[in-house]
Amino acid sequence: MKKESGEVDVIVLGVGTSGEDISLQLLDAGLDVVGIEPSLVGGECPYWACLPSKMMIRAANSLKEARQVNSFAGEAKITSNWNVVAKRVGDLTANWNDSGAIKRYEEHGGRVIRGFGKLDGPNTVIADGQTFTAKKAIVIATGSRPLMPPVPGLADTEFWTTHSIMQMKELPDSMIIMGGGASGCELGQVLARFGVDITIIEMRDRLLPDEEPEASEVLENALIDEGIKVHSGTEVQKADFMNGSFSVKLAGGQELNADRLLVTTGRRVELEGLGLESIDIDETSDFLPVDENMQVKGNIYAIGDVTGKGFYSHVGLYQSSIAAAHILGKVHHSASYHAVPCATFTDPEVGRVGLTEAEAIDAGIPVAVIVKQLPLTFRGMVHGVESGMVKLIADRKKDIILGATVAGPYGVEIMGMLNLAIHAQIPISELRSIMYAFPSFYSTIGEAVGAYGRGVTTALDPSYEGIRILDALVHTVGQPGK
Ligand SMILES: Cc1cc2nc3c(=O)[nH]c(=O)nc-3n(C[C@H](O)[C@H](O)[C@H](O)COP(=O)(O)OP(=O)(O)OC[C@H]3O[C@@H](n4cnc5c(N)ncnc54)[C@H](O)[C@@H]3O)c2cc1C
Repeated sequence: MKKESGEVDVIVLGVGTSGEDISLQLLDAGLDVVGIEPSLVGGECPYWACLPSKMMIRAANSLKEARQVNSFAGEAKITSNWNVVAKRVGDLTANWNDSGAIKRYEEHGGRVIRGFGKLDGPNTVIADGQTFTAKKAIVIATGSRPLMPPVPGLADTEFWTTHSIMQMKELPDSMIIMGGGASGCELGQVLARFGVDITIIEMRDRLLPDEEPEASEVLENALIDEGIKVHSGTEVQKADFMNGSFSVKLAGGQELNADRLLVTTGRRVELEGLGLESIDIDETSDFLPVDENMQVKGNIYAIGDVTGKGFYSHVGLYQSSIAAAHILGKVHHSASYHAVPCATFTDPEVGRVGLTEAEAIDAGIPVAVIVKQLPLTFRGMVHGVESGMVKLIADRKKDIILGATVAGPYGVEIMGMLNLAIHAQIPISELRSIMYAFPSFYSTIGEAVGAYGRGVTTALDPSYEGIRILDALVHTVGQPGK
């Protein structure tokens, strides 16, 4: 363990997903680091968010696969048991115990102080009655909190958040989910596959309202087919709990009842209480503004949800490497957000990277929009995919893709290739020059851009406009001979 002095090289405020990562990088580089954390070291992702939810999804998807045996291979009888899932999640999180993470932190030479930290000027943090001074940097990585809608009556009920559901030992018979974004849809589908009667309420006009409308439609139809009730374009006006049952009243007057109420209406950054006034930063801002090196000002850095650049672990981890390199005086790339992947791990998965069509049009970019339906691809036909698509938003002038959405089996994995293409601004003519494995899901991108199986693709899907649009585009701006 390092010395007990109050002066260290770096203070990390919030040892969550991003704070733990940057701490370990700086400790391995030989710096003296103290981490301040009131809750579990590792933060949201391993205990209450990405990892346990994906473990639940893995379980629910195995039920779906098994049920499909009857369509594809013969007969299967399936009995689900939530205890198996609860046990795996308990093992994953060490029953929400971070002693392993603290040990790892200390083995790397760091020290964790339990408590909320507060800035007291540009070099100082007060936590747990102790004062620490940073010689090199203070990194703020305090994350975000669930956003609670101001619904009358809601605060008086024992509604669930995503934290409660990750620790759920027994399934309810029925659940109302307020919020049809990624978490609401992912968890709703998991529970529906385990037999829970699920209703999702979304205030905006469709599920996954920030995604492409085609993707929302694919997902909404899939959820409805599984028996999930969806109410979109309506607000909850009142919530209540009486005689062991939750009730919510919708804007149109309809009343819904369920055993449990889960609120997944988004997240928000809370800057109050961090002592930001001591460094002249407005604590009523929506997030902490950062530059391309993750600097807020001077030696104060911020990474993760608190920067408002995307509420994803991968955003925080990306920023963590940039901030660590900058603190260590190493050459590094500048932070850029033109290719942020957004992943919804439902079945079908929805993966998007870069701009949606609406965002590109709003930005005044001359776009060409290309949509290839998955059922009309070779792999889609073989796999029995009933709906899904790849949507590409191309810049008419530059011969590059600015945004892409994949809705379908392994949609997030298929997005990987588009993630690279958009990040590196690979010309569409170059994407056409790749040899794609046959018949893979990712080769849908090859079919979409006309790289692959051109003759057969157009024969099977004569109404597919994409190849013609891209032909025109590439000939105008690209290098077709490449
Ligand atoms: C249900 C769900 C599923 C998700 N699934 C995914 C996914 O599949 N993939 C993905 O990329 N993202 C996912 N996310 C988002 C992801 O979990 C977050 O973006 C990520 O954990 C944020 O990391 P962070 O370091 O910014 O904050 P956190 O991990 O939240 O860490 C912040 C830490 O700061 C501490 N803190 C707060 N105030 C103070 C203070 N004053 N002093 C000291 N410490 C403080 C907190 O206790 C906390 O531990 C999911 C989120 C949810 C809710």
